[in-house]
Amino acid sequence: RSDSIESILQRLQSENVKFLRLQFCDILGTIKNIEVTQSQFAKALRGEVMFDGSAVEGFTRIEESDMLLRPDLSTFLVFPQFSREEGERGKVARLICDIYLPGGTPFEGDPRRVLRRQIERAAAMGLTLYCGPEPEFFLFERSESGGGTTRTNDHAGYFDLAPIDRGERIRREITNKLIEMNFEIEGAHHEVAPGQHEIDFRYAPALQTADAVSTFKFAVKRVALEYGLLASFLPKPVAGVNGSGMHCHLSLFKDGSNAFADPNGEYGLSDLALHFIAGLLEHASGMVAVTNPLVNSYKRLVPGFEAPVNVAWSTSNRSALVRIPAKRGNSTRAEFRMPDPSCNPYLALALMLAAGLDGIQAKLEPPPAIQRNIFKMTVREKRHHKIRELPTNLSEAVDALERDEVMAAALGEHVLGHYSEAKRQEWAAYSATVHAWELERYLDLI
Ligand code: GLU
Ligand code: MG
Ligand code: MG
Repeated sequence: RSDSIESILQRLQSENVKFLRLQFCDILGTIKNIEVTQSQFAKALRGEVMFDGSAVEGFTRIEESDMLLRPDLSTFLVFPQFSREEGERGKVARLICDIYLPGGTPFEGDPRRVLRRQIERAAAMGLTLYCGPEPEFFLFERSESGGGTTRTNDHAGYFDLAPIDRGERIRREITNKLIEMNFEIEGAHHEVAPGQHEIDFRYAPALQTADAVSTFKFAVKRVALEYGLLASFLPKPVAGVNGSGMHCHLSLFKDGSNAFADPNGEYGLSDLALHFIAGLLEHASGMVAVTNPLVNSYKRLVPGFEAPVNVAWSTSNRSALVRIPAKRGNSTRAEFRMPDPSCNPYLALALMLAAGLDGIQAKLEPPPAIQRNIFKMTVREKRHHKIRELPTNLSEAVDALERDEVMAAALGEHVLGHYSEAKRQEWAAYSATVHAWELERYLDLI
């Protein structure tokens, strides 16, 4: 096997890798890593490297802090060179790890574990979730001192070809590096807002997708830095223009074929697909605190910018929360338009899957599909169609998460407790701040 300990040790040696990163991710989605040098490679591959869990946000208390990093050998990757100096210091490789307690039980606060639990639940029903994510991001200029700005140096729009500016060139560089990192890139294009881009990669089973999203974000930021730009996945960096989403194209496979497709079903969708969609809609408000985790996330979820605001689905309309793209057969899928790229991809995918599986198990029926632009409907029309709104800020979202028993159970007590605590603190800090908008609006007037 190409991913046995022996073969990885051989590759580390033949490629003269100097540093091996053992990667994992905290509850909020930040990638952490412990880097080991050559003398420790074998020990690391055997899963014997320990770290202090109490030093990681939301992990554990001091008393039970020792944890083990067990590498998932299928995630082995030798990083390409991002810069010449880096090349001179020696090659770097990485392995993504699962976190275990010293006794050998998986750590319940590990986001990868949370996702694995839902994957196992699906597997027991004979189902595998596939996801094709569409992370959008901005490329901004840096200030003289190297800090971030929200200045873009391009004026292009959706799918624009010319003029080829710095942003476009760097997007190509990013794409090349991603290909060197084994990504199968399906398309890269300029997005609606100035300075906004999207690079799509091939769909894969949920765990691989979550790993890929974290690797993708790292690579995009790393390449942009090399070219003196700032890549940001902040959902709404500039008011008044489109924000950045991470639409997730979701499908379930059974016995190797797409279980969402049914040529005789309504809209060419199987009952299973309809139940799954109903589950996503049912739990959208409960999961939004995870799929859209920042104070800033809720500034993207406003009418008029192709991001969803209402809990509805459609086979055509981009104002809906779930859209069914036209492709059928093995490409049949639901595009879940709510998530944004600041989410912890493991927790977010775990909740999408848990919501869909709940829809299937409880045989939930979706409401009728809405084919009109929901942003143009009046409040009365929306009420008539029983279209609910998503929570409008992080505080409401955390309340909704805690009320939703299915979502809360999918996270598990440990993650739910630490997550809502961290998010409530974030909201409190934001609420206590006086923002520029308030001064502009009131200072003179009152
Ligand atoms: N940028 C939009 C969003 O915030 C999506 C645009 C698109 O349809 O690709 O979700
Ligand atoms: Mg897009
Ligand atoms: Mg999309």
